[in-house]
Amino acid sequence: MAATARQLPKRVPPLMTSRVVIRALYPKLEEVDTFELEYRPYTLFATRDTVHIKLHVYHVDASLVVEDNDSLVEVGRGWRLHARSLGPRLCRYHEGPRGEPLKQRWCHAIAVKGGWCARHLSSPLALYERCTASNDFDACRAIDALWPDEEYIVYLVYHGAGFKIGVTRAWRFYTRLLEQPHLAAAVIARLRSALEARKLEKKLASTRGFSEGIGVSRSVRMRASLLSKRGYDVVARSLAEGIARLGLSGYFEAYSLTPLDCPVQPLLSPLRELPRGHLEYLCTWGGILVFRMSSGLVGVTRDAVIHRVINAQQ
Ligand SMILES: [Zn+2]
Repeated sequence: MAATARQLPKRVPPLMTSRVVIRALYPKLEEVDTFELEYRPYTLFATRDTVHIKLHVYHVDASLVVEDNDSLVEVGRGWRLHARSLGPRLCRYHEGPRGEPLKQRWCHAIAVKGGWCARHLSSPLALYERCTASNDFDACRAIDALWPDEEYIVYLVYHGAGFKIGVTRAWRFYTRLLEQPHLAAAVIARLRSALEARKLEKKLASTRGFSEGIGVSRSVRMRASLLSKRGYDVVARSLAEGIARLGLSGYFEAYSLTPLDCPVQPLLSPLRELPRGHLEYLCTWGGILVFRMSSGLVGVTRDAVIHRVINAQQ
């Protein structure tokens, strides 16, 4: 008689492991309030033009876009994984329709320099980063030729300890804002050229008291923005004052992404490497991911976990 499955000796199920890579943040926004104000700066000799601000306050709950073996999935609060070990960092090059994180095709080669594999060191995305993160204006010109339809936002962040000017692709604005500590950020300009956007950013950041981010550390900005007791009316006014100090006037849309149920302490003292063990994802804000472990809550910097292979047990 042939053996049936029932008659076979019981076997311990094999250990299921998977290769997990967190690839992107995926902010989910809900507008909860708006504040409008007009600010007219006074100088000794004359009044200047008005700055009109409309501040949109959003609650943000960020999902993660995760490669689980070879499929791309969206996971949210409560996602659990057992991180057994960390593998190499993978290249961050990807292709797909803009603003659709679940439809990207990611490069699986190991990153060798600046987060890129050898093949993608001179890719359009790497060029774009050279344009925005260095003074390589030739890279900006190359990007303008490669991406004629792209739109860029130059923005002003108020983080409670000062101001910061930034530039990003327009469709990525909210994700970019979620990656940095802020009380609010105003859209200063929308431009069709990376070169023009980068030049404007540099010009504005050279104003006294402003920067492209250098000067005030992330931990100071984090503390100033998270522990702020300022109301949004006060925040909107500070942002308007900042815009006026840049010599600008007119109507500006501004945004604040407020973390929803995200514990403050792990955000203030993040680890620089993902700990091993059972992790439950809770939230993301200011470039920090928060997980629950059996030992308590931990924050981990986004840069430490994103694109890193996590060998996980299921
Ligand atoms: Zn690559």
